[in-house]
Amino acid sequence: MDSLALCNVQLDLERAFRDYRKIKDRGRPRYKSKHHSRMRYTTNVVKRNIRIDGKKIRLPKAGMVRIRIHREIPEGWILKNVTVSKEPSGKYYASLLYEIPECESQAEGAQREKRYLGIDYAMDGLAVMSDGTRAEHPKYFRQAEEKLAREQRKLSHCEKGSRNYAKQKRKVAVIHEKVRNQRKDFLHKMSRRLADGYDVIGVEDIDMRAMSQTLHFGKSVSDNGFGMLRTMLAYKLEERGKDLVKVDRFYPSSKRCSRCGRIKENLTLNDRIYRCECGNVMDRDVNAAINIRLETMRLKAS
Ligand SMILES: [Zn+2]
Repeated sequence: MDSLALCNVQLDLERAFRDYRKIKDRGRPRYKSKHHSRMRYTTNVVKRNIRIDGKKIRLPKAGMVRIRIHREIPEGWILKNVTVSKEPSGKYYASLLYEIPECESQAEGAQREKRYLGIDYAMDGLAVMSDGTRAEHPKYFRQAEEKLAREQRKLSHCEKGSRNYAKQKRKVAVIHEKVRNQRKDFLHKMSRRLADGYDVIGVEDIDMRAMSQTLHFGKSVSDNGFGMLRTMLAYKLEERGKDLVKVDRFYPSSKRCSRCGRIKENLTLNDRIYRCECGNVMDRDVNAAINIRLETMRLKAS
């Protein structure tokens, strides 16, 4: 047993209880489940006890383990801790936390005009930008999800506890992991592009959990693409010394005309095109995204 693994869990638990008491809407910590919880542990670096050596990593107690490194680690970064996890597919991952000595990222030229972007959540697809572009899930998502559904159906026909059940379950887990990784990869690339291209990004402050309950769009892989995108944007913008602005959820972004500011009270979810008396005709989601951008600029100015 790695002694630091236990220390870290205790710290996690303490923090969980502290957050539970202090932060509104934070759930009570629950017990882990042998069936559902991810198996993982975190260990800290103490006097070079953990190091990467070519294609191997040295871990306390485990010793030298062969790894595949997915990105170059720049000179001068300091390794702080390692989290080893086992996915349901049976694969092991090591996540390495590094400290960057000085803030290299925040020194960007500050004196030019700021670029603003508003993003509206779109129920079909993923998001709509205020510049009129639409972010759609790539086609391979659908394909992978169909495959996943097929294999899950097969699993339901296997006898529980049997050899075939275990085999099929593993197969489902492998596809599951693939879908999850594809989604993450896609969102990482998109959020990176946006964080590089804009200085201030406005998003709706919607409660994704409440939303998925009321709209039942929980698909096979319960995807919360927009929520994940928001999380990624938040830290990617912060790394670059930029801002993510959350626009109040009661701000009437859909009902307001982005050209004249009139409010259309009788707008329904079925109206895909926004038509205003002032002659403004545009896609409903684009109109909302432009409003979010305008509100973001207003909030930043005040
Ligand atoms: Zn108008």
